[in-house]
Formats: sequence, C-alpha cells, structure tokens
Amino acid sequence: MLTIGCHLSSSGGYEKMGKVALEIGATTFQFFTRNPRGGAAKAVDPADMMAYRKLAEENGLGKIVAHAPYTLNPCSPDEKVRNFARLALTEDLAKMEYLPGNYYNFHPGSHVGQGVEAGIVMIADLLNQVLKKDQTTLVLLETMAGKGSEIGGRFEELRDIMDRVELSEKMGVCLDTCHVNDGGYDIVHNLDGVLEEFDRIIGLSRLKALHINDSLNPFGAKKDRHAKIGEGQIGLEPIVGILTHPSLEGLPFILETPNELEGYQEEIRILRREAEKTRNPGLLEG
Ligand code: FE
Ligand code: FE
Ligand code: ZN
Repeated sequence: MLTIGCHLSSSGGYEKMGKVALEIGATTFQFFTRNPRGGAAKAVDPADMMAYRKLAEENGLGKIVAHAPYTLNPCSPDEKVRNFARLALTEDLAKMEYLPGNYYNFHPGSHVGQGVEAGIVMIADLLNQVLKKDQTTLVLLETMAGKGSEIGGRFEELRDIMDRVELSEKMGVCLDTCHVNDGGYDIVHNLDGVLEEFDRIIGLSRLKALHINDSLNPFGAKKDRHAKIGEGQIGLEPIVGILTHPSLEGLPFILETPNELEGYQEEIRILRREAEKTRNPGLLEG
C-alpha cells in the first residue's frame, strides 16, 4: 500500500489534519509549521498533538512532513532574514518533538548574489547551531528547481551542505518531482539514471520523502510551477513509475498540486489505482 497524501491546512490543528487525511484516503500528509509567508507561529498545543498521535497510531498513518515557511532563508545577505531562519528553525524543531520521529522539510535558501559556496557555508552553519543530538526529527533539504539564486538545484549542493553538518545523521533529502524536472533531471525518460545519480552523489538512504507534482514548465526550465498530475510536462505515467519504483518503496509521497481537498482525494484515488495496476498487471482487468 502506498504511503501517499497531500499538503493540508494546519489551521484546525493536528488531530483535525489527521482526520481530514483519513477522509480523503491519505496515509501521510504535509503541513506548514506557521504562515508560509512569514510571521509568528501558533502556540504549541500538546493535547492536540497527543490526540493526533493516538489517531495516527490507531489508523496506521505514516510519517508526516512539516514544511518550513518560504521566507526562511538561512543564506540571505540580510541579517534580519537570517535571524528569522534561526528562530523559526529552533522553535519548529522544538515543537516537532511533540510528534517524535517525523520530518521537517525546508528550502535550503537563495544566496542572492553571494555565491553558491558562501550560501552553502551559511546554511550548514545554521544547521550546526540548531540541530540537537537528542532530537528525533530528521531535517530534510528539498531538491529545488534552481530558480534565481536558489541553492539545491543540483544534488551536489545538497551533498555539500550535509557534508558540513556535524550531526549529519539528523539530515535527509526530500525530492520534489516538479523541481527536479525543472532543474534538468530527466525523470520522464531516465528515472533509473536520475536515481543512480542521486545515489552516487547523496546516497539513496538519505532520501526520506518525495513531493509528487506535475510541472507546468518543460524539462530544465528552472521555473517551479506545479501542475495537477497528468496536466503538466511530466505526465501521469512517469509519476506512477516513481510511485512504484522499487528503490522508493515505502517512502511518503506528498502531493503539492494546485488542488482543493476534493481534487487531492481524486488524485490519491487515481494514483493508488494506477500504482496497483502497474504492480499487478491483469489483476484489475478481468
Ligand atoms: Fe517546498
Ligand atoms: Fe515541494
Ligand atoms: Zn515548488
């Protein structure tokens, strides 16, 4: 059974997200830890988080993914922006320990003219300040499209960040299908080759989650605009190929497609059905 879900609104709390996930046939989900455009986080509600843990255990929900705000940029030239990144990461990672053993994903950052190398050093510096030996949360670097001065458009850049992190066992990667397509990794025609490259440079054991999105833009466009599954330049079949790839079995697959809940429910249903057909050809035929 696929561990698949989508991005959900966190405005009703954790137990609510768990219930919504179950209603739409999801077995994982993603949420923003705070307003994605910045600002203060809601106070921690341990009772709600405990209620979520009980619900998740009873219903077999898999690992979930917290997503940092988009404004989090550890390698901004602006000190205020870097301070926000440190504060948000520190607070969010503390909060995540109420839901032990899950994932916290963030966009590595944009160096805004300072250079890739300088950016990588600043990102790793921040991680070295905020990661703790006893934390149970794994921090995931997201593969990026390489738009503007974004860091993380090449696997090598993610590897370089992790190499500089002392507690690198607390680090992993989340692969976004739209971003890697736009970044110039050909998952449509050569998925095996892309995964081999990932394995050679980063190590597949570091891959902890995937964002499943189609892309509005062609291969290598460095754009980053998500499309509904089957309505973009990647297409349904290559996406199903990812969901059923033996090297990716059991990983959480998170949809971030432009959908409301009904649309997500439908995509989850179709993707489960198509993955099942690919795994057991003939089973659903007769
Ligand atoms: Fe993201
Ligand atoms: Fe993503
Ligand atoms: Zn994106």
